[in-house]
Amino acid sequence: MTGIDDLPIRDELRGKSPYGAPQLDVPVRLNTNENPYPLPEELVARIAERVTEAARELNRYPDRDAVELRTGLARYLSRTAGHRVAAENVWAANGSNEVLQQLLQAFGGPGRTAIGFEPSYSMHALIARGTGTGWISGPRNDDFTIDVEAARAVIAERRPHVVFVCSPNNPTGTAVDADTVLALYEAAQAARSSMVIVDEAYGEFSHRPSLLPLIAGRPNLVVSRTMSKAFGAAGLRLGYLAADPAVVDAVQLVRLPYHLSAVTQATALAALEHTDTLLGYVQQLKDERDRLVTELRAMGCEVTESDANFVQFGDFDGPGGAHAVWQALLERGVLVRDNGVPGRLRVTAGTPAENDAFLDAVRAVLKENNR
Ligand SMILES: *Cc1c(COP(=O)(O)O)cnc(C)c1O
Repeated sequence: MTGIDDLPIRDELRGKSPYGAPQLDVPVRLNTNENPYPLPEELVARIAERVTEAARELNRYPDRDAVELRTGLARYLSRTAGHRVAAENVWAANGSNEVLQQLLQAFGGPGRTAIGFEPSYSMHALIARGTGTGWISGPRNDDFTIDVEAARAVIAERRPHVVFVCSPNNPTGTAVDADTVLALYEAAQAARSSMVIVDEAYGEFSHRPSLLPLIAGRPNLVVSRTMSKAFGAAGLRLGYLAADPAVVDAVQLVRLPYHLSAVTQATALAALEHTDTLLGYVQQLKDERDRLVTELRAMGCEVTESDANFVQFGDFDGPGGAHAVWQALLERGVLVRDNGVPGRLRVTAGTPAENDAFLDAVRAVLKENNR
């Protein structure tokens, strides 16, 4: 049988496997940071209306520049993220992964490098690889915060073209403060004119304000966002960025023409009409996240402070480490994520019933392991 490596595939893809968490059919799925609440029925009906309208014009290409949608996203950010932006500051694509890919196509690429502070979102490194961008793994402190001095030093030494800052960070939940981002931005500009990409996929779940206001007067700073988490629309595939209009012009050099379908644009516009309802679920999820932190700590787990809709917990140093605990939870019908961080697992905040099932399963596993 022909395998991938028998094909004349690019050298950097040889022997690699595709990204993706297991999609297993178990009762309690808390492994991909999805929002557990289905969209409200009024929104589902509104999507049907909007999509019906769009369907009448599907013989035509969609609005290539997605102006109405970018205007709606700009309005949402202006209202919720502490800084006024206009459509010309905003760009949208099929999930923030595509936004990040377009950014690396424009600002990374062969002969260039990007840095992230790990453990962090593994797609940053994978999208770098996919775009031929070299990857530099930067350090974190033991408590998973960014070690600013060490970060500054590695940026000065390696002079990356792109710097990723994930806040709140996946998989640890750690939020990054504005002073840290500013220190990294200044170090990156001193090393060379680098782009700094702040990935705020979980921004709405944080108790800290958005880092969006930092884009003012900083054309090399980009904030990326998504409707996959807070908006409960992972299936929609809609991510977006806010930055200086020049950045929006730059990504248009690499985007495929008509990349955002008319159906996607119509659906996202419908979701934006229901922002307030959707943000109501965010508050419930934050409360549930805080409950997970409290209850896991009460069981004696080490829990990393979280500003996201998930919690990193451990420290599992027994036989088999974190993976054995992951397996034991799965056997009890609860799927969490093993991100490969030694001794740690990550659980997404689900509905109260799902979280109860998860907590019961952890209690049972810890008891079995005599802890
Ligand atoms: C989930 C996630 C994304 C979102 O990806 P989409 O393509 O928008 O679904 C981006 N960044 C981080 C850190 C994430 O965890």
